[in-house]
Parts: sequence; C-alpha cells; structure tokens
Amino acid sequence: MTGCLFCKVASGEIAATVVKRADGLLAFQDINPQAPTHLLVIPTVHIASLKDATDDTLLGRMLGFARDLAREVGIAERGYRIVVNTNADGGQTVFHLHLHLLGGRAMRWPPG
Ligand code: 5GP
Ligand code: ZN
Repeated sequence: MTGCLFCKVASGEIAATVVKRADGLLAFQDINPQAPTHLLVIPTVHIASLKDATDDTLLGRMLGFARDLAREVGIAERGYRIVVNTNADGGQTVFHLHLHLLGGRAMRWPPG
C-alpha cells in the first residue's frame, strides 16, 4: 500500500536488517529493540492489523514462521514472547500487520 512503512520494507524501498524471508513473509530487526532479540514478522502483502486479517491460514503461517525463527536465532529453549499490538488500545503504531518476536531476557507480566 502506498505510504505504508512496512510495505516499503517488504519491497526494499526502506532498508532493514532482514533475517528471514519465505512464502510471502519477512522477518527483520526492529529499529528500536526492546530486548536483546527483537524481530518483526510481516506478510509482504498489506494487511492493516490483526483486526483486519481475514486469512487464518496466513495467520497460522506467521506463527509457525516466528516459531522457526526463534529456534534459528537461538532463543527458543530459554523462551520468548510474541506480541501483536492491535489498534489504539493495543499500542499499534505501524498499521501493517506484524508480530513482535522478543527474547534474550526474562519478560515481565503483566505488560504495560
Ligand atoms: P507497533 O507499535 O505498531 O506494534 O510496532 C511497530 C514497531 O516498528 C516498533 O517496535 C518500532 O520500533 C518499529 N519500527 C518503526 N519504524 C521502523 C523502521 O523504519 N524500521 C524498522 N526496522 N522498525 C521500525
Ligand atoms: Zn503495508
């Protein structure tokens, strides 16, 4: 979608440190990491948010992709957190569906 930051990352128009790409999905480093490992997983097609997602197969593939990615970057055994901020109360700031994969430190609960 024109003007969408993560569509521009997906197309290469905006540079990002890409760590995995497969089957219409892309993982790259968050520009403002909140943990030693902080990766974002996006579909390369534009979907504004989880609320707007209609393809449950794609959503399942995103989770499987993040699970595999966690293993590949070495955080799977100690554990990690996957977050999908959705719309205003969820704290979403970039309106292109993304999973946060956070690891490399112990997470606290509840989140802020
Ligand atoms: P949200 O708040 O929408 O769940 O998460 C958006 C995330 O995108 C934030 O963690 C933010 O640091 C990250 N982000 C914002 N702009 C950029 C960018 O230009 N490049 C990268 N790699 N990450 C970004
Ligand atoms: Zn987009």
